[in-house]
Amino acid sequence: MITVQGFEGARVGVLGLGRSGLATCAALAAGGAEVCAWDDSPEGRAKAEAAGFAPIDLTRHGALDGLAALITSPGIPHLYPAPHPVIAAALVQGIPVDNDIGLFFRTLAADDFPPKVICVTGSNGKSTTTALIAHLLAEAGREVVMAGNIGTGVLAIDLPGEDGVVVLELSSYQTDLARHLAPDVAIFTNLSPDHLDRHGGMGGYFAAKRRLFSEGAPTRAVIGVDEVEGRNLAMQLGEGPQDARVIRVSSGQKLQGAGWSVFARKGFLAEWRSGRQVASIDLRPMAGLPGAHNHQNACAAYAALRSLGVAPRQIEAGLASFAGLPHRSQLVAEIGGVRYVNDSKATNVDSAAKALQAFPRIRWIAGGLGKEGGIAGLVPYLASVAKAYLIGHSARDFALQLGAVPYEICETMDQAVARAAGEAEAGEVVLLAPAAASFDQYPNFEKRGEHFTALVQGLPRG
Ligand code: ADP
Repeated sequence: MITVQGFEGARVGVLGLGRSGLATCAALAAGGAEVCAWDDSPEGRAKAEAAGFAPIDLTRHGALDGLAALITSPGIPHLYPAPHPVIAAALVQGIPVDNDIGLFFRTLAADDFPPKVICVTGSNGKSTTTALIAHLLAEAGREVVMAGNIGTGVLAIDLPGEDGVVVLELSSYQTDLARHLAPDVAIFTNLSPDHLDRHGGMGGYFAAKRRLFSEGAPTRAVIGVDEVEGRNLAMQLGEGPQDARVIRVSSGQKLQGAGWSVFARKGFLAEWRSGRQVASIDLRPMAGLPGAHNHQNACAAYAALRSLGVAPRQIEAGLASFAGLPHRSQLVAEIGGVRYVNDSKATNVDSAAKALQAFPRIRWIAGGLGKEGGIAGLVPYLASVAKAYLIGHSARDFALQLGAVPYEICETMDQAVARAAGEAEAGEVVLLAPAAASFDQYPNFEKRGEHFTALVQGLPRG
């Protein structure tokens, strides 16, 4: 656990007592702060009480008086669509509002021998890129700890030594609020619309992610330049195209200019510096990284490792042994020449579009709780779909947007898997890439993916 520095003897509010909130309480208390913990839900309060933190009702009039800071959880709105009432009151009183990421960097600044920190943000591919970087570093023999939006809350980790590396996945909610950000290497994977209600639109969403670079001032910035926002960010962070503080990354574009770049084209990764190719890797055999979107992740992770001085051949060996993450383009079985792929994490149109482009002929299981606009944005990517098997709340809405693609309303995952498996031919892929949230039928995308996987594993073989 991290011992949070800078609040000894001070009263600090903690709003939101999930996994990261409870870790925050413990880390603040370890640093000598007086913790005032609150959660709107009785379950959250009960968990805090069990952990030894008696809840203090922060919604009460005057409860915030004298607080040195209010630390909040990423799920709690701090600005849009409207701040939580406790945060609104803190804003009126001018009390600093922060999160666990801000506390982490504040504490690291007081460390004489801090580890290196790599932060990953972007709309899609954050978890995959974070896990891949951690894997590559471990394979290269470095001590590595992974935390943030993935797995462990950042204040629950034990810091590695000076030669170690902390790899953090950061969501836009986290980068928007953290008062201290100081990564050594910061990565921006890509940008597509998501969570717009929490950021007051696309501009606010990009601004939230951009804080990792503007406030964080990383020594090295790895920037995906396949959208205009990434190109803009890369331009602003460097003195010019030759400035090696920025590594430009692309999936699809040849980036052979004066600077430092890593790009993937036709399944090959290339690293260029000062107009010369310095390394190339064939990504096609890397089973844990299928599709152009994963090649983008591989390029970003490769660039991060190169920033720390790891050799290309060593990175190549690590890419080959990466197993991929569950629920992200995960091959769960091959039965009778049909591959079954679980991409339950494809909850938005952009990630589903990437999955649809990763395979040539697809039996597509989609639907759930659709987002604004449904699947209109997927129309250009439906050529590979032999048939759609639609489930959940949005099944009928999605059907109206499919054009000439054959479809069937299946309602449930059981039916969809049975129908798709019954009709699939050798060489095809049965792909779960819902383009929708899971909450109409499942508690989360993990449970949806696990259900798909269990049904596939129960299919008759041979
Ligand atoms: P995040 O943590 O940003 O949500 P994940 O690695 O968990 O990213 O992947 C989320 C979804 O996006 C999955 O469906 C995955 O297959 C897809 N995906 C992964 N990498 C990319 C990428 N670079 N661009 C677009 N989609 C991606």
